[in-house]
Formats: sequence, C-alpha cells, structure tokens
Amino acid sequence: MKPFTLLFTLSLSVAGLADTAATAQSRPTWITDVTIISPERLDHIETGSVLVENGLIRRVERYNKAAQSQKPKMPGGAVAISGKGQYLIPGLIDSHVHLSSIPGMTFEQEKANGAMVEAYLKQMPRSYLYYGYTTLVDLVVTDPDVLNNFRNEPLHPDLYDCGNSLPLANGYPMSFAPLDVRFKPFPNFIYDPKQADRIPAEFKPEDHTPKAAVARVKASGAICVKTYFERGFADDKNLPVMGPEVLAQIRKASKDSGLVLMIHANSLEAQKFAADGNVDVIVHGMWHWGDLNKEIELPDQIKRVLDQIVEEGIGYQPTMQVLYGEMAYFDPAYLTMPALLKVTPGPMLAWFNSPDGKWFGKELNQAINEKGAPDAEIIKMFEEDWVRHVRQATAYLASRNANFVFGTDTPSAPTYGNLPGLNGYLEMQDLRKAGLSLEQIFKAATINNAKKLKLDSKIGTIEPGKIANLVLMTKSPLETVDAYDSITTVFIHGNPVPRESLAASSK
Ligand SMILES: [Zn+2]
Repeated sequence: MKPFTLLFTLSLSVAGLADTAATAQSRPTWITDVTIISPERLDHIETGSVLVENGLIRRVERYNKAAQSQKPKMPGGAVAISGKGQYLIPGLIDSHVHLSSIPGMTFEQEKANGAMVEAYLKQMPRSYLYYGYTTLVDLVVTDPDVLNNFRNEPLHPDLYDCGNSLPLANGYPMSFAPLDVRFKPFPNFIYDPKQADRIPAEFKPEDHTPKAAVARVKASGAICVKTYFERGFADDKNLPVMGPEVLAQIRKASKDSGLVLMIHANSLEAQKFAADGNVDVIVHGMWHWGDLNKEIELPDQIKRVLDQIVEEGIGYQPTMQVLYGEMAYFDPAYLTMPALLKVTPGPMLAWFNSPDGKWFGKELNQAINEKGAPDAEIIKMFEEDWVRHVRQATAYLASRNANFVFGTDTPSAPTYGNLPGLNGYLEMQDLRKAGLSLEQIFKAATINNAKKLKLDSKIGTIEPGKIANLVLMTKSPLETVDAYDSITTVFIHGNPVPRESLAASSK
C-alpha cells in the first residue's frame, strides 16, 4: 500500500507544479520578503518584493526590515512566492560557451553514441539553468541546428551568438582540419595574400576581407565577432597569425556594425596584440608567458600589458576551467563528484567512467610525457606552470579591479572536465581562489557581462522593465561563493522553475 500512496502523491505534486508554472506566466508573480541583491546597488541591500508580469520585472519594492508596516501590498490577482530567508539575484550570464561541442567525445564517438548525445543535448539547457545561467553566448557557431534545437527546448537560457568566427587563413583553429577540407567549415576566414598558394582558388580575396566577413556575421543575427591570435601548441607551434592592420579592420567593421569584438588570446604576446588592437573582450586568461615562463614573480613587462587592459576597460575572461577541465583526467575525485549526476544523463556519465571515455586523458598524458607520467606529477606540472601563470595574472587584474566578464569556455576541449552549468560554478570557485572578491565575481556574471554585450537594457540587474530572469538562493553570493550552489528556484522570463526539477537525475 505504501509505495502506491507515495507514487500517487508524487504524481499529484508534479501535476500541481506544472500547473503553477503555466499559470504564473499569465498571472503576475509577487516574489516577496526576499533580500534583493542587484549589482547596481550593492551598497544598499534591502529586503523587498519584486513583481513579475508577462516575463518582465514590473516593480521592485524595497523596505526596511524593522518597519513591517511599510510593506507594500500584494497586487490583486498575483501569485505570491515567499522569498523569506532567501536572496534574489539577476540570472547569471556566461558569455563563452560552445553548445555544439560534446564534452569528452571525438566526432567519431559522437556518431557511434547517437542516443547518448541526443539525451545530453536535451539536458544541456536544463543543466545551465540548474546553476542559474539564464543567458549564454556561443562564440563559434559551427552547427546552427544544435543552437536552434536548444532554443526550441521548453526550458532554456536565452541564447546569443557570434555566428561563424574569423580565423586567419590556415590559422588556428581551422588548422586542426586537413588542408583540403578546412576552408568550408570556416566561411568567414580572412584571406591572407602571403598564403595565396595555400588557399583554394574557389575562395576569392574580396569575399574574405574583414569587412565582408563581419557583414556576414551581422547578417546572421549575431551580437558579436570572434577572432583569434594563436601561434599554436603541441605539434602545431608555428601557425600563421594576423597582423595589427587586419585586426584594425576587424575592429572597425565590428564597431560600424554594432558588434562586440571578442578575441581568443592566452599568451603575453597575444594579449598585448589584443590590447593594442583595442578589442572588447579577451576570452582567456594568460597562461603562456613566453620567454618569461620561468619567472616566479609576475614580471613588470606583463604588468604593463595587464595595466593597459584595465585602462582600456577591456572585458576579461580568465577561463581557468580550460586548465582544470584537462586536469580532471588526472584528479581521481572528479568523476565521483555528486554534482555530475545533476548535469549529465546517467548513460553518458557511465561512458565517461569507461576505458573508452578516458581517451582524452591518455592523449594529454602522452602529449605531456611520451612515456606517460603518474597523475599526481601531471597535476603538479599544470599547477606550477599554466595554472600558476593564469592565477598570478588574474590576481593582479583583480587587484586593479579589471573589467571581468564571466565566461567559461564550456567545453574548451573534448574534455568531460567542462560540463554545462557545473563548469560555471567551478570557474567561480577558481576565480575566488585566484583572488577575485565575491563582489567582482557577482558583477562579472551579471552587470559587467550585460554592459559589455550591450544587453544591459534587458538583463544584468533587478530593475523594472528588464527580463524576469532571476535566481532565488538560500545563501548570499556576497558572503560565500558556495551560494551559487544554494539555488532553490530559477525564474525564466518570469516562469518559476524549482531547481531540482532541472537536474538530469530528476528524470
Ligand atoms: Zn572558446
């Protein structure tokens, strides 16, 4: 008898939930007695109520906790949601994701595991929401179908993109594909007259100028332009890179089209190039210091470039999870984290744990040491080299109050160490350890991102007129970074969704 009763109650409450979610969209919602934390007024945090209607924030009423008599009345016809003892923040923004890349898999493995990949893609938008991410920017659209399907899921974050990216001909990342097939997937590559003999004749120089490429990005409906400065790593260390005059043309065309210019740059040389070119956002931390790699203290030469980045107000994404996402293969604790069950469907998680699923770790290990090295040794190598560099550069930028904009690069490689949603939470933990204050992290993921992306009239704060993308949590993000894992409800265009219902394990 008991199991039956339990089942019955469960199905009833699920039906009840679905019902509230549906009606809340048409009826106004009154989120009441909640501590409102909005980045434009962190010096004035008060309890209050927020009225949400037709997907927008209509009213924000703050009141003094002591004077209960001043409490505003709930508008007639509204549905109340008590936020008592909780904190309300704007939905989080991750401005660096790659939705069509499947964590942990090669292209062949994706094809061989179709059902597993399909289940992953269906869960992906929910996993981002599970960790409070209500807005994403995909930096390189290689497969528009994945983005369209994402937007068609019943529950999903708002999604913006940079369209097809602008690599220099034969440069990173088109260099990963063989010469004869690398041009088609990158229709916005920039023609390089010096390499005319290595560009198929069907591609005309006039179609591949910065201006023509940016015009196509704009026409695709994108909000940003993504380009690269990368000489390469491992086996490809001498890739062609663009000169300052090409970047200047991309800069001008982006500005003229109202697009945000984002650049892949993770070395001292690349970030100096980016700063000199006055880009809008540098989408990686500085883990390669070139000739200065062995320096123990942050060299003055690097400080000068970082100062320039601060002075120009360039948006900066340390993306520390790029490194930790690779280190995950050498960290025995990673795959045992209970959080993985929340963001990854069971079959895929089982595959990550299988010998097949560990292929990328083996490749990394061999790339680092031909004979293979013990896990602990590899972790130590990462920590003493790239992680140390990015941490020192990031700490310096934090001390200068740089314009951090939150972005994770999920997934940055075919690694299972970068899972949707969870990766953002881990990145915040990394940033905290690197020296960002809780306030800097909070602003980076809300108002700084919104402003840099020119979306601040719609998102980024809790103010009337903005989209009602909101997150309710039991801990304050200004007291602990763990708050971002204390979410209870995510409001998606005003629709309140209980966090646990978004978990992969809830099905
Ligand atoms: Zn990326």
